Amino acid sequence: MTGTATSPAPSPTLSAADRCDRCGAQARVRVVLGSGDLIFCAHHAHAYEDKLKASAVDWVDETAALRS
Ligand SMILES: [Zn+2]
Repeated sequence: MTGTATSPAPSPTLSAADRCDRCGAQARVRVVLGSGDLIFCAHHAHAYEDKLKASAVDWVDETAALRS
């Protein structure tokens, strides 16, 4: 096992290869639902936040981790 000295935070689950389910932009937020995951760009995560947060099991906002 190799690694750097400090990595206390869990690694982001989203990468540049992950794309928003609605528009294809780089995904920033993963929404875990009982039926599966959805990933959205920051724009669409915000657009669907009110609707989805009621049923989301988890809401992983990685906007900060992926800032560019
Ligand atoms: Zn989008």
